[in-house]
Amino acid sequence: MSRASIVYDDTFLLHDYPGHPENASRLRAITERLASDPALRTLPAMPAPDADPDMLQAVHTDRHIMGIEHAAQSGGGWLDGDTYCTARSYDVALRAAGAAMHATDMVMRGESGAAFGLVRPPGHHATPSTAMGFCLFNNAAVAARTAQRHHGAGRVAVVDIDVHHGNGTQDVFWEDPSVLYCSLHQWPLYPGTGLARETGAGAGEGTTVNVPLPPGTDGDQWLHAFEARVVPALREHAPDLIVVSAGYDAHAADPLAELRLSTDTYAAVASRLSELAGELCGGRTVWMLEGGYDLDALAASVGASLQALDAA
Ligand SMILES: [Zn+2]
Repeated sequence: MSRASIVYDDTFLLHDYPGHPENASRLRAITERLASDPALRTLPAMPAPDADPDMLQAVHTDRHIMGIEHAAQSGGGWLDGDTYCTARSYDVALRAAGAAMHATDMVMRGESGAAFGLVRPPGHHATPSTAMGFCLFNNAAVAARTAQRHHGAGRVAVVDIDVHHGNGTQDVFWEDPSVLYCSLHQWPLYPGTGLARETGAGAGEGTTVNVPLPPGTDGDQWLHAFEARVVPALREHAPDLIVVSAGYDAHAADPLAELRLSTDTYAAVASRLSELAGELCGGRTVWMLEGGYDLDALAASVGASLQALDAA
């Protein structure tokens, strides 16, 4: 069994809008970095299939899925003030969700300990019915549902380390006690949700854990908050799989936010999550790329995460 594998497809470069922070050079920077590093270029890398319609429908409304398809077929445009759609974006987003399925399949079948989907567009702001915040389909939510519906996982945890609150993922699992959603994020910041008092509802009360952090929070403070708030919740939930919404925009160099994590912090987070996965769920983790807009910091931090996952 490989310890860490990558799911990547050149299709992910086709959703692009030069000048927008969420553009194809983000993935090019990552793949160039991996190719130049002897420890990383030998990691198994798998292409992604398109997502099964049923798995997309397990997360999104038909109206949302068809809305993205129709927007792309009509030549694309702006879905909101931040979120672009091109003629190719439906195909790309379908493939990114497929990468989430494939990464989950590999990990749940025991073919790889950790699988990292190097995907675009990102997903964690996409709600069941809305594209927003650069996100079209919610890849991390698709990974969690794939584990449950195709592999019999009972409980899944989603740990969102992106600097922004993953409002979309929170919405998908808000009333679902089987999926724990934990997010550490800068607050105040887009999209404005993610207060500590947002803890889920109905049967899902208590399985949403939000850790808002003030601008200027550094890596040690972030890791301390992770240990204090997220680790106990993970142990209590006892998941069969940990899905990581892997955003790198909490890095000190990132232009979109003001947290101060370092590349070493990201390596430490990956090591710690691997350790927790070893303790709780046979080492199974699926990482899906979310944000990260300083190209050097993004590429270095993804590389450091993969190195830590492969060493676990
Ligand atoms: Zn973000």
